[in-house]
Amino acid sequence: MRGVVFDEEGVRVRDDIELRAPGADEVVVRLLAAGVCQSDVKLFTGVTRLPLPIVMGHEGAGIVEAVGREVDSVETGDFVVVHTLRSCGWCRHCVAGRPTSCTNAGGGIDTPFSAGGHKLHQFASTSVFVERTIVRREQVVRVDLRIPPTAASLLSCAVLHGSGAVTNRAHVRAGDTVAVFGTGPLGLNVIQAARIAGAQRIIALDINRELEALARRCGAHDFSATHDSSGVLDLETAGVDHAFVCTPDAALVTQAITATAASGQCVIVEFPGLGVRTDFEVRQLYLDKSILGTRAGTADPVRDIPRLVALYLDGQLLLDELVGGTAPLEGAEAALTELAAGPNAPRTVLTIS
Ligand SMILES: [Zn+2]
Ligand SMILES: [Zn+2]
Repeated sequence: MRGVVFDEEGVRVRDDIELRAPGADEVVVRLLAAGVCQSDVKLFTGVTRLPLPIVMGHEGAGIVEAVGREVDSVETGDFVVVHTLRSCGWCRHCVAGRPTSCTNAGGGIDTPFSAGGHKLHQFASTSVFVERTIVRREQVVRVDLRIPPTAASLLSCAVLHGSGAVTNRAHVRAGDTVAVFGTGPLGLNVIQAARIAGAQRIIALDINRELEALARRCGAHDFSATHDSSGVLDLETAGVDHAFVCTPDAALVTQAITATAASGQCVIVEFPGLGVRTDFEVRQLYLDKSILGTRAGTADPVRDIPRLVALYLDGQLLLDELVGGTAPLEGAEAALTELAAGPNAPRTVLTIS
């Protein structure tokens, strides 16, 4: 079968990829669409270093083609969103509904891919720039057939993580004020989730003015072409209830804390690399301010993905607007190159079968 493989020589489409049989708790998915994301770009540009060769892609939608003997959550023919979040289902965090904190998610599964007698690695426990993949049963969520595969493919990454930061971690409520530092895919989804939650004022900040129109379309009331806290404080002099950091720039954490009102919170949605530090005046937290982190929007995919689909079908959640264009698997390299050059939104979706 065909798939996009990254190795020492770069990105190429291979047509000789073989897929092993699924294990007892695994699902075979025939991919229909897959989003091209910054995480793929980081692999492509060498920022993320993983064993090669590797089958690319990590956010997709498709049809269940086969299931292992222990799988009863989905069945052959189901339309599903494929996501990267693995969880055991029975540790204390999973039982409490916090699968992103699972302490027992396990390592990567035995890669399902090979070509020419050699293994091809699986990216982010998913790999979706390929005609078929195998994932564990908790990595697929059945969704309403009325959502197009291109839109559905975006749900498992930036949409789930950005909206989850708003609803699951920050618990934004009607009437709250919000600032969003960085309006790439994560920031746009923070903005639209804050709008859906009823935030009374949403201030978007990004040094790239090209992103203003889409930020406003998603729900931003104001756009400041700066990453400085003044972009918030000039508009809301006492600061905002929730300041979200949606770019991997530690300096923005300092700015976001400064832009946070008394009793408010700075929420870090996108994280810089290991070892990166920042500093801030500790006294700034005195007025009951908090700093929160979130992994993958503190999501519970089984709960959150169908809810996002319902919001899309109701016209509240914008997904088609986040798709910049579609391309076949052969278009992956061009899409990665374009995304690496920025801006970060909207994105290309690969249509596979
Ligand atoms: Zn992604
Ligand atoms: Zn667990």
